[in-house]
Amino acid sequence: MIKLKNHHNYVAFFLTLGCNLNCSYCINLHNSGSRYKQAKRKEFSYKDWIEAANKLELRDDLPLSLQGGEPTLLKGFNIFAKEVKPEIKMDLLTNMMFDVDKFISEVPTQRFTRDAPYASIRVSYHPGQNDIEDLIYKTQKMENAGFRVGLFGIELPDEKLNKHIFEVRDRCLNLGIDFRTKEFLGEFNGKIYGTFKYDGSVMGSKLKSCKCKTTELLVDPNGYVFKCHSDLYNGRDPYANILDDDFSTDLIDIYRDCNYYGDCNPCDVKVKTNRFQQYGHTSVDIIDIKDI
Ligand code: SF4
Ligand code: SF4
Repeated sequence: MIKLKNHHNYVAFFLTLGCNLNCSYCINLHNSGSRYKQAKRKEFSYKDWIEAANKLELRDDLPLSLQGGEPTLLKGFNIFAKEVKPEIKMDLLTNMMFDVDKFISEVPTQRFTRDAPYASIRVSYHPGQNDIEDLIYKTQKMENAGFRVGLFGIELPDEKLNKHIFEVRDRCLNLGIDFRTKEFLGEFNGKIYGTFKYDGSVMGSKLKSCKCKTTELLVDPNGYVFKCHSDLYNGRDPYANILDDDFSTDLIDIYRDCNYYGDCNPCDVKVKTNRFQQYGHTSVDIIDIKDI
Protein backbone atom coordinates (compact mmCIF):
# COMPACT_ATOMS: atom_id res chain seq x y z
CA MET A 1 0.00 0.00 0.00
CA ILE A 2 1.05 3.60 -0.56
CA LYS A 3 0.28 5.49 2.62
CA LEU A 4 0.45 9.26 2.30
CA LYS A 5 1.94 11.07 5.29
CA ASN A 6 0.66 14.14 7.11
CA HIS A 7 3.00 16.51 5.29
CA HIS A 8 2.06 15.21 1.84
CA ASN A 9 -0.26 17.85 0.47
CA TYR A 10 -1.32 16.74 -2.95
CA VAL A 11 -1.77 13.51 -4.90
CA ALA A 12 -2.40 13.83 -8.62
CA PHE A 13 -2.85 11.36 -11.41
CA PHE A 14 -2.28 13.05 -14.77
CA LEU A 15 -4.49 10.60 -16.64
CA THR A 16 -3.53 12.03 -20.02
CA LEU A 17 -1.70 15.11 -21.25
CA GLY A 18 -3.95 15.19 -24.30
CA CYS A 19 -6.68 17.79 -24.49
CA ASN A 20 -9.68 18.59 -26.69
CA LEU A 21 -9.07 22.33 -26.39
CA ASN A 22 -6.12 24.34 -27.56
CA CYS A 23 -5.48 27.28 -25.23
CA SER A 24 -2.58 29.44 -26.37
CA TYR A 25 -1.25 29.78 -22.81
CA CYS A 26 -1.43 26.06 -21.98
CA ILE A 27 1.54 24.97 -19.88
CA ASN A 28 1.43 21.32 -20.75
CA LEU A 29 2.95 19.84 -23.85
CA HIS A 30 -0.09 17.82 -24.96
CA ASN A 31 2.02 14.69 -25.33
CA SER A 32 4.22 16.42 -27.88
CA GLY A 33 7.26 16.93 -25.66
CA SER A 34 10.32 15.32 -27.16
CA ARG A 35 10.66 12.86 -24.31
CA TYR A 36 7.12 11.57 -24.72
CA LYS A 37 7.49 11.30 -28.48
CA GLN A 38 10.78 9.45 -28.36
CA ALA A 39 10.00 7.12 -25.52
CA LYS A 40 6.64 6.01 -26.93
CA ARG A 41 5.88 4.62 -23.52
CA LYS A 42 2.65 2.79 -23.22
CA GLU A 43 0.17 4.95 -21.35
CA PHE A 44 -1.73 3.46 -18.43
CA SER A 45 -5.14 2.00 -19.24
CA TYR A 46 -8.05 2.70 -16.93
CA LYS A 47 -7.38 -0.74 -15.41
CA ASP A 48 -3.80 0.27 -14.55
CA TRP A 49 -5.12 3.46 -12.98
CA ILE A 50 -7.62 1.48 -10.90
CA GLU A 51 -4.77 -0.74 -9.68
CA ALA A 52 -2.68 2.35 -8.83
CA ALA A 53 -5.53 4.16 -7.06
CA ASN A 54 -6.40 1.05 -5.05
CA LYS A 55 -2.84 1.04 -3.68
CA LEU A 56 -3.36 4.49 -2.13
CA GLU A 57 -4.19 5.06 1.50
CA LEU A 58 -5.34 8.66 1.74
CA ARG A 59 -6.32 10.78 4.71
CA ASP A 60 -9.91 12.06 4.74
CA ASP A 61 -8.67 15.55 3.87
CA LEU A 62 -6.54 14.39 0.95
CA PRO A 63 -8.37 13.53 -2.27
CA LEU A 64 -6.87 11.96 -5.36
CA SER A 65 -6.80 14.80 -7.90
CA LEU A 66 -7.40 13.85 -11.52
CA GLN A 67 -5.86 16.22 -13.98
CA GLY A 68 -4.03 16.48 -17.28
CA GLY A 69 -4.48 17.61 -20.08
CA GLU A 70 -8.14 16.81 -19.93
CA PRO A 71 -8.42 13.78 -17.61
CA THR A 72 -11.86 12.70 -18.83
CA LEU A 73 -10.29 11.84 -22.20
CA LEU A 74 -8.88 8.68 -20.62
CA LYS A 75 -10.63 5.78 -22.32
CA GLY A 76 -12.83 4.20 -19.64
CA PHE A 77 -12.66 7.29 -17.39
CA ASN A 78 -16.16 6.72 -15.98
CA ILE A 79 -15.40 3.08 -15.19
CA PHE A 80 -12.19 4.15 -13.46
CA ALA A 81 -14.05 6.77 -11.40
CA LYS A 82 -16.71 4.22 -10.48
CA GLU A 83 -14.63 1.15 -9.74
CA VAL A 84 -11.79 2.43 -7.56
CA LYS A 85 -12.30 1.36 -3.93
CA PRO A 86 -14.98 3.50 -2.28
CA GLU A 87 -12.77 5.09 0.39
CA ILE A 88 -10.82 7.05 -2.25
CA LYS A 89 -12.33 10.50 -2.73
CA MET A 90 -11.49 12.26 -5.96
CA ASP A 91 -11.20 15.82 -7.21
CA LEU A 92 -11.55 16.46 -10.92
CA LEU A 93 -9.88 19.34 -12.78
CA THR A 94 -11.59 19.57 -16.12
CA ASN A 95 -12.70 21.76 -19.01
CA MET A 96 -16.11 19.96 -18.85
CA MET A 97 -16.15 19.07 -22.54
CA PHE A 98 -17.38 15.62 -21.55
CA ASP A 99 -20.84 14.09 -21.82
CA VAL A 100 -22.45 15.08 -18.51
CA ASP A 101 -25.49 12.81 -18.95
CA LYS A 102 -23.23 9.79 -19.30
CA PHE A 103 -21.11 10.97 -16.37
CA ILE A 104 -24.19 11.42 -14.17
CA SER A 105 -25.54 7.98 -15.03
CA GLU A 106 -22.22 6.15 -14.63
CA VAL A 107 -20.26 7.86 -11.84
CA PRO A 108 -21.43 7.72 -8.21
CA THR A 109 -21.77 11.17 -6.62
CA GLN A 110 -20.02 9.94 -3.44
CA ARG A 111 -16.76 9.77 -5.36
CA PHE A 112 -16.71 13.54 -5.79
CA THR A 113 -18.41 14.69 -2.61
CA ARG A 114 -16.50 15.51 0.53
CA ASP A 115 -16.32 18.24 3.09
CA ALA A 116 -13.98 20.85 1.59
CA PRO A 117 -13.91 24.63 1.20
CA TYR A 118 -14.06 24.27 -2.58
CA ALA A 119 -15.91 22.10 -5.10
CA SER A 120 -14.48 18.66 -5.90
CA ILE A 121 -15.22 19.11 -9.59
CA ARG A 122 -13.39 22.24 -10.69
CA VAL A 123 -14.03 23.47 -14.17
CA SER A 124 -11.73 25.91 -15.94
CA TYR A 125 -13.39 28.45 -18.16
CA HIS A 126 -11.15 29.30 -21.12
CA PRO A 127 -12.67 32.21 -23.10
CA GLY A 128 -12.69 31.43 -26.80
CA GLN A 129 -12.25 27.71 -26.13
CA ASN A 130 -15.09 26.36 -24.01
CA ASP A 131 -18.46 28.09 -24.12
CA ILE A 132 -19.76 29.67 -20.93
CA GLU A 133 -23.41 28.97 -21.83
CA ASP A 134 -22.55 25.28 -22.17
CA LEU A 135 -20.62 25.33 -18.89
CA ILE A 136 -23.52 26.96 -17.02
CA TYR A 137 -25.98 24.44 -18.46
CA LYS A 138 -23.77 21.47 -17.60
CA THR A 139 -22.90 22.81 -14.14
CA GLN A 140 -26.57 23.16 -13.24
CA LYS A 141 -27.28 19.67 -14.54
CA MET A 142 -24.43 18.16 -12.55
CA GLU A 143 -25.41 20.05 -9.40
CA ASN A 144 -29.04 18.93 -9.73
CA ALA A 145 -27.71 15.37 -9.91
CA GLY A 146 -25.87 15.88 -6.60
CA PHE A 147 -22.32 16.75 -7.71
CA ARG A 148 -20.57 19.84 -6.39
CA VAL A 149 -19.13 21.85 -9.25
CA GLY A 150 -17.15 25.10 -9.22
CA LEU A 151 -16.10 27.22 -12.19
CA PHE A 152 -12.77 29.00 -12.37
CA GLY A 153 -11.43 31.78 -14.57
CA ILE A 154 -7.95 33.26 -14.76
CA GLU A 155 -7.55 36.85 -13.66
CA LEU A 156 -5.17 38.37 -16.18
CA PRO A 157 -2.99 41.40 -15.38
CA ASP A 158 -5.03 43.44 -17.86
CA GLU A 159 -8.17 45.30 -16.88
CA LYS A 160 -9.74 45.14 -20.34
CA LEU A 161 -9.26 41.39 -20.72
CA ASN A 162 -10.53 40.83 -17.20
CA LYS A 163 -13.79 42.64 -17.85
CA HIS A 164 -15.31 39.60 -19.50
CA ILE A 165 -14.20 37.21 -16.73
CA PHE A 166 -15.68 39.46 -14.05
CA GLU A 167 -18.96 39.80 -15.97
CA VAL A 168 -19.17 36.04 -16.29
CA ARG A 169 -18.30 35.61 -12.62
CA ASP A 170 -21.05 38.00 -11.53
CA ARG A 171 -23.57 36.31 -13.77
CA CYS A 172 -22.70 32.87 -12.42
CA LEU A 173 -22.82 34.07 -8.81
CA ASN A 174 -26.28 35.52 -9.48
CA LEU A 175 -27.34 32.11 -10.77
CA GLY A 176 -26.04 30.49 -7.59
CA ILE A 177 -23.04 28.96 -9.37
CA ASP A 178 -19.69 28.96 -7.57
CA PHE A 179 -17.33 30.96 -9.79
CA ARG A 180 -13.88 31.93 -8.57
CA THR A 181 -10.95 33.61 -10.21
CA LYS A 182 -7.34 32.50 -10.01
CA GLU A 183 -4.28 34.70 -10.13
CA PHE A 184 -2.42 34.61 -13.45
CA LEU A 185 1.04 33.07 -13.10
CA GLY A 186 3.82 33.39 -15.62
CA GLU A 187 4.84 35.90 -18.25
CA PHE A 188 2.48 38.51 -19.68
CA ASN A 189 3.72 41.30 -21.95
CA GLY A 190 7.30 40.72 -20.87
CA LYS A 191 6.61 40.79 -17.13
CA ILE A 192 6.51 37.82 -14.77
CA TYR A 193 3.45 37.59 -12.52
CA GLY A 194 3.07 35.56 -9.35
CA THR A 195 4.67 35.39 -5.93
CA PHE A 196 7.41 32.79 -6.01
CA LYS A 197 9.47 31.71 -3.04
CA TYR A 198 12.75 31.34 -4.92
CA ASP A 199 14.20 34.18 -7.03
CA GLY A 200 14.89 33.25 -10.64
CA SER A 201 13.19 29.86 -10.36
CA VAL A 202 10.46 30.68 -12.92
CA MET A 203 11.69 31.77 -16.34
CA GLY A 204 15.10 32.41 -14.80
CA SER A 205 17.79 33.96 -16.98
CA LYS A 206 19.96 30.84 -16.59
CA LEU A 207 19.61 27.29 -15.36
CA LYS A 208 21.22 26.42 -12.05
CA SER A 209 21.73 23.24 -10.06
CA CYS A 210 20.13 22.58 -6.69
CA LYS A 211 18.60 19.94 -4.47
CA CYS A 212 14.84 19.79 -4.44
CA LYS A 213 12.28 17.94 -2.34
CA THR A 214 8.53 17.87 -2.91
CA THR A 215 5.47 17.33 -0.73
CA GLU A 216 3.41 15.95 -3.60
CA LEU A 217 2.85 12.65 -5.36
CA LEU A 218 2.69 13.45 -9.09
CA VAL A 219 2.07 10.59 -11.51
CA ASP A 220 2.23 10.99 -15.30
CA PRO A 221 0.09 9.17 -17.92
CA ASN A 222 2.56 6.27 -17.94
CA GLY A 223 2.52 5.85 -14.17
CA TYR A 224 5.93 7.49 -13.68
CA VAL A 225 6.40 9.55 -10.55
CA PHE A 226 8.09 12.96 -10.70
CA LYS A 227 9.41 15.42 -8.17
CA CYS A 228 7.73 18.46 -9.75
CA HIS A 229 5.33 19.65 -12.46
CA SER A 230 8.16 20.93 -14.65
CA ASP A 231 9.81 17.49 -14.69
CA LEU A 232 6.47 15.78 -15.34
CA TYR A 233 5.43 17.98 -18.24
CA ASN A 234 8.88 17.58 -19.78
CA GLY A 235 9.09 13.83 -19.09
CA ARG A 236 12.32 14.51 -17.17
CA ASP A 237 13.92 12.28 -14.54
CA PRO A 238 11.06 10.17 -13.13
CA TYR A 239 12.23 8.55 -9.92
CA ALA A 240 9.81 5.61 -9.77
CA ASN A 241 6.69 4.08 -11.22
CA ILE A 242 3.56 4.07 -9.09
CA LEU A 243 3.10 0.33 -9.77
CA ASP A 244 6.65 -0.60 -8.68
CA ASP A 245 6.36 -3.27 -5.98
CA ASP A 246 8.76 -1.38 -3.75
CA PHE A 247 7.26 2.11 -4.24
CA SER A 248 6.74 3.81 -0.91
CA THR A 249 6.01 7.37 0.16
CA ASP A 250 9.48 7.51 1.79
CA LEU A 251 10.71 8.07 -1.76
CA ILE A 252 8.79 11.38 -1.94
CA ASP A 253 10.74 12.75 1.01
CA ILE A 254 14.21 12.73 -0.57
CA TYR A 255 16.11 15.83 -1.72
CA ARG A 256 17.04 15.08 -5.32
CA ASP A 257 19.60 16.72 -7.59
CA CYS A 258 18.16 19.01 -10.24
CA ASN A 259 19.90 20.97 -12.99
CA TYR A 260 16.77 22.79 -14.11
CA TYR A 261 16.38 25.45 -11.43
CA GLY A 262 15.20 28.41 -13.51
CA ASP A 263 12.78 26.26 -15.47
CA CYS A 264 10.53 25.59 -12.47
CA ASN A 265 6.79 25.52 -13.03
CA PRO A 266 4.85 28.22 -11.15
CA CYS A 267 2.69 25.48 -9.56
CA ASP A 268 5.69 24.18 -7.64
CA VAL A 269 7.29 27.35 -6.37
CA LYS A 270 4.46 29.82 -5.99
CA VAL A 271 3.54 30.86 -2.50
CA LYS A 272 0.02 29.51 -2.12
CA THR A 273 -2.77 28.32 0.10
CA ASN A 274 -2.44 24.75 1.32
CA ARG A 275 -5.22 22.23 1.80
CA PHE A 276 -6.18 23.89 5.10
CA GLN A 277 -6.63 27.14 3.17
CA GLN A 278 -3.58 28.57 4.97
CA TYR A 279 -1.45 30.94 2.94
CA GLY A 280 2.34 30.63 2.74
CA HIS A 281 2.85 27.08 1.46
CA THR A 282 5.08 26.02 -1.44
CA SER A 283 5.04 22.54 -2.95
CA VAL A 284 8.81 22.11 -3.08
CA ASP A 285 11.74 22.92 -0.85
CA ILE A 286 14.89 23.92 -2.69
CA ILE A 287 18.38 24.05 -1.18
CA ASP A 288 22.01 24.36 -2.36
CA ILE A 289 21.24 26.52 -5.42
CA LYS A 290 24.47 26.87 -7.43
CA ASP A 291 25.63 28.15 -10.81
CA ILE A 292 26.32 25.34 -13.23
S1 SF4 B 1 -8.11 23.19 -21.34
FE1 SF4 B 1 -6.31 23.15 -20.00
S2 SF4 B 1 -5.09 21.41 -20.75
FE2 SF4 B 1 -6.58 21.93 -22.35
S3 SF4 B 1 -5.50 23.32 -23.73
FE3 SF4 B 1 -6.61 24.58 -22.24
S4 SF4 B 1 -5.11 24.97 -20.58
FE4 SF4 B 1 -4.34 23.24 -21.80
S1 SF4 C 1 14.26 23.03 -8.79
FE1 SF4 C 1 12.45 23.47 -10.04
S2 SF4 C 1 12.71 22.22 -11.89
FE2 SF4 C 1 14.12 21.41 -10.32
S3 SF4 C 1 12.98 19.77 -9.30
FE3 SF4 C 1 12.64 21.62 -8.12
S4 SF4 C 1 10.74 22.53 -8.91
FE4 SF4 C 1 11.49 21.04 -10.42
